[in-house]
Amino acid sequence: MSEIPLKPGAARRPAVERDAARELAQEFWGVEGEVSELPGYEDRNYRVGRGPEAIVLKVTDASAVQIELAAGALERVAEAGGGLVVGRAVRSLAGELWEAVEGEDGRAHRAWAVRWLEGTPLAHAGPRAPGLLWELGAQLGRARVALEGWEHEGLGRGLEWDLRRGVEVAWSYERFLEDPRERRTIREALAGIEVGLEGVQGELRVGVIHGDANDHNWLVRDSEPASGVCGLLDFGDIDRGWVLGEVAICAGYLMLEEADPVAACEEIVAGYHSSDPIPEEELEFLFDLARLRLCVSVTVGAWQRSQEPENEYLSVTTAPGLRLLRRLQRLDRGEFHARMARACGESIRAGGEDGGALLERRRQGALGPNLSLSYEEPLEIVRGEGRYLIERGGRSYLDGVNNVPQVGHCHPVVVEATTQQMRRLNTNTRYLSGVRVRFVERLLATLPSELEVVYLVNSGSEANELARRLVGAHTGGGDWIVLEGGYHGNTQALVELSHYKFNAEGGAGRAEHVRVAKMPDKLRGMVGHEGEDPAAVFAESVACAVAATAAAGASTAAFIAESLMGCAGQLVLPEGYLQECYRIVRGAGGLVIADEVQVGCGRVGSHWWGFETQGVVPDIVTMGKPLGNGHPLGAVVTTRAVAESFDNGMEFFSTFGGNPVSCAAGEAVLRVIEEEGLMQNALETGCVLMDGLRAMQGRYECIGDVRGLGLCIGLVCVRERGRSEPDAGLASAVVERMKQRRVLLSTDGIFHDVIKIKPPLVFGPEDALHLLEQLECAFAEALVGGSR
Ligand code: PMP
Repeated sequence: MSEIPLKPGAARRPAVERDAARELAQEFWGVEGEVSELPGYEDRNYRVGRGPEAIVLKVTDASAVQIELAAGALERVAEAGGGLVVGRAVRSLAGELWEAVEGEDGRAHRAWAVRWLEGTPLAHAGPRAPGLLWELGAQLGRARVALEGWEHEGLGRGLEWDLRRGVEVAWSYERFLEDPRERRTIREALAGIEVGLEGVQGELRVGVIHGDANDHNWLVRDSEPASGVCGLLDFGDIDRGWVLGEVAICAGYLMLEEADPVAACEEIVAGYHSSDPIPEEELEFLFDLARLRLCVSVTVGAWQRSQEPENEYLSVTTAPGLRLLRRLQRLDRGEFHARMARACGESIRAGGEDGGALLERRRQGALGPNLSLSYEEPLEIVRGEGRYLIERGGRSYLDGVNNVPQVGHCHPVVVEATTQQMRRLNTNTRYLSGVRVRFVERLLATLPSELEVVYLVNSGSEANELARRLVGAHTGGGDWIVLEGGYHGNTQALVELSHYKFNAEGGAGRAEHVRVAKMPDKLRGMVGHEGEDPAAVFAESVACAVAATAAAGASTAAFIAESLMGCAGQLVLPEGYLQECYRIVRGAGGLVIADEVQVGCGRVGSHWWGFETQGVVPDIVTMGKPLGNGHPLGAVVTTRAVAESFDNGMEFFSTFGGNPVSCAAGEAVLRVIEEEGLMQNALETGCVLMDGLRAMQGRYECIGDVRGLGLCIGLVCVRERGRSEPDAGLASAVVERMKQRRVLLSTDGIFHDVIKIKPPLVFGPEDALHLLEQLECAFAEALVGGSR
């Protein structure tokens, strides 16, 4: 993300007020009459006079060459005819194109004038008549053709509006957006645009373009509805650029206030194509070029606002631009592209291997047969963008379930950090590394001070395996207490500690050294204990396990539990439960392990780590999944005493564990969570979801329980209210319907009856509302559709 040098003072518009403008118009152009100020981005613009003699007086910091360039372009377009009306330059009484003037603060500027055009800016006109956007597109195409081949010494100015530099420009200005959610919208869009425009340099035609055909620059007849184009204003940004940018810029801006932006874009593109044909191979870049212009407009606007807060014109694109960027992110890009192609009279060729062929190849044994695929029709996801996953063909899905990309798919800060480190060096823990120390120190800063030693590994399973060794070294071994429904990893030894696996299909049953305590499920586990304290009831089962171990002549080595049970169905532990369990286990000489592989790293919102919600400090914490945002990274954190027991002379070494690239990912993830306020976001968004889901529970008898903390939420599907009989069929039917509605969820729980909601932490309140709306429909459909 390179820095663009900011133009000093460029955002300070000339200090020439109305009365001064009146005098200038009279003195130099001999035009008198009413004076009114018009909006201006960098210039001061005044309308002076009435009727056919009226002019727009422009006071500017533009160079003489730039003024000649704009005036020349106006001339060229006007001469070419083609129906597009433009306001030509009006020479001064002395026959000059511009006159030197001075602002009230003594700064020198140039004043020039163009003919006033009648009409209403499209942005202020009412509803748009059918065909208006088509006509406007067609006129824009004709103007572009009129500029074809034009040479002028003022061309090639390197404006920040040139989309060839757009990505770089928007990255360097996005920091001027103060609201973290606004920044996130831009960052996600830009990261996606960068991928979408990969390889575009050199592929797109370059030519002279107006470059700013926005809704304030189009004049239309202010009828009801607005019909007929009266003219195009402001040739001040004319320059060389991508030809496709001309229509993309116009479409980007004109979609802003449209109820159906794709239909509006289609109309503009069809009109434009009729006069300036768009090559088929360029069309696929239209979507990202339009988005890019919005990003540039919003970010440069943010910078200019920081320089000139009183200029309201600088904010006109901000809110609608961000809104449109969010909407575009949700679009089916394949459909968008197909519609644009149809608008140009072309049909789209399907690219790549289709999903059916891939599935067949996978089935034929390329991958192990017991790897599962989600959904009746599996998805082939080819790109990620923040909260969205994009399927081959361009359909995008709101990701409500992937808890590994903690800070959003392909977060640009994480991508940048890992790419840079990968380019520089990747080695192992036998060498000193600054990035490793920075990551570990940052990680420790999120944890209670007792937990002071870190081991870095590559996965949750490797973390729990290492935890087993630490326990063995510290306690000398013994029995393990695990929770019913718990899952801790895929190795032989961890499957033995995972009731979720060893007790299910294909499992070998409980191993002798493993004792299973009751799942602390208030919905189903309190039968016969009504009115009692759930923490005490369930902890009693841990006490029984300890007693049984002792009775068998063995010792208790460890108790391992998630701080909020994931695979068991997003089960929130009863208040005080871990405190009680830890007391019992420690009393028997065992160590206590918090498995934070799923729920840690800010997901619960109120705290960094789930165990903190229970008011305990474990002896060992294991971490994985979210720590690297999808990059394989796990960690074990423990006390000095346990680490010393483990340090028995044998080296601990994991080839990839703690490599600098993974550490760069981990460090970036922790930094982004803090910088973007993602824990607070998890908390707020979690509240919106929980409130909405609880309201739904009141309406649907089949929702037996709604539970969760932050962005870790489970919805239990049951057959009848008040009864807890699980309904796995309904849960999976709802998840399938949600997929059709382009929101991804999944099921969990030992009965597969829990709908899991665990999105990346960038999932915001507006996403939560969208999810709730879709979920309501999905439930209604699944129930009518007879999933039972
Ligand atoms: N612990 C828990 C709680 C998990 O959910 C998982 C993975 N689902 C693991 C450990 C194992 O992690 P990994 O798949 O990275 O080995």
